[in-house]
Amino acid sequence: MTWSYWRVAPFITSIFFILGVLTLYWVLYNWLIAWVHSRRINIDDSVVNAWHGVVYMLVFVFVMQTTVVGTNESWQFMNFQLIALVFCSYFLNIHIRYYALLPVVIIYMVFNQSIYYWESWLYAGVMILLFWTMNFLRVWLVKKRYAWAYYLLTVSAYGAILWLFVKVKFAFSWDIYWQELLYLEVFTILLYAYVNMITKDSELKVQLTQFANHDALTRAENYAAYTAQIKYLFADSAKNNLSLSMMMFDIDHFKAVNDTYGHLAGDRVLQQATTIVQTVLDANDPQVKLYRTGGEEFNVLFQGYDLASTKTIVDQIFAAINHLVVKYNDQQIHVSISVGVAQLHPGDADPQAFYNRVDQNLYYSKRHGRMQITAK
Ligand code: GH3
Ligand code: MG
Ligand code: MG
Repeated sequence: MTWSYWRVAPFITSIFFILGVLTLYWVLYNWLIAWVHSRRINIDDSVVNAWHGVVYMLVFVFVMQTTVVGTNESWQFMNFQLIALVFCSYFLNIHIRYYALLPVVIIYMVFNQSIYYWESWLYAGVMILLFWTMNFLRVWLVKKRYAWAYYLLTVSAYGAILWLFVKVKFAFSWDIYWQELLYLEVFTILLYAYVNMITKDSELKVQLTQFANHDALTRAENYAAYTAQIKYLFADSAKNNLSLSMMMFDIDHFKAVNDTYGHLAGDRVLQQATTIVQTVLDANDPQVKLYRTGGEEFNVLFQGYDLASTKTIVDQIFAAINHLVVKYNDQQIHVSISVGVAQLHPGDADPQAFYNRVDQNLYYSKRHGRMQITAK
């Protein structure tokens, strides 16, 4: 079936248009983030979001405007432009300084053939004010009740002023004025509801990923995270000719800690040992990661390190844990670890072969009296 004329009211089409624009934004953003992560490019997700947001919305605004520019209906897409602006300033909370915002506005006015109209200059000034107000509101409204009401009132007030300039310039009726303001109101609410819905969904995803990769007791990364990382590092180190070393440690006589002081005391030891190792790693090289690969067994992966260059960090971890005294119900629990360290060799056929050599070194430390490091 084909339609010979458009049967859906423009207002309804607009709603689905805005939802479509936002959905495409989100799909592209997720794709970009996945790409950045797979390439291990060191950019914060929020920076990607900000740049993607600005570029996407600018392309969207300029492309839409090309279809009406120069006509006496060049105000047709103004509500979409306002929604794009609110999205960047409020929801993405992108901060753009006036010296960056002003050129964009002027380029837009030249493109829109409106640079010689005083109404357009006033309009541009108020747009910039709206951008800053929404920036400010986003931060100010954090955890405030009725944040949505402040948001809606602000956009409506600015919308009423902006549409007034446009009404004067294009001399259309008050009916159109009120109708456009009403549409703006609906789009603004829609934007708020839709973005919140999507954000809740992606926060849930982040929490689930966090949960899947981290150990609940110690908050160190878990065995699943270790397996994924060693697989990646094994291939990447071979490809880029980088050294790779692994340290593995196991708490000595840990069963005795549980048997003597109880399981909760054992848990406390695991938590404090993790914290102290994490502190050593953060102070030396935050790229080096700690994994809890077993009950009281941990792995540390050093990319770009040969055996000799791991020595300082391994020695610090060894000393820090051996000096650790965990207090539990007036009891003092002393902890020690046995350590195995090895460097990736071309002879290691797969990550498991590399792991086994480190494990053998750890086993050697255990069999030869514990509380020692075997590195070879
Ligand atoms: P070794 O010096 O040879 O390593 O002796 P060990 O006692 O440390 O080793 P063993 O493998 O016999 O015991 C490990 C113990 O760790 C047994 C298990 O109950 C305990 N364990 C494993 N996970 C946890 C945990 O999450 N919390 C507590 N409290 N204990 C745990
Ligand atoms: Mg042990
Ligand atoms: Mg063990």
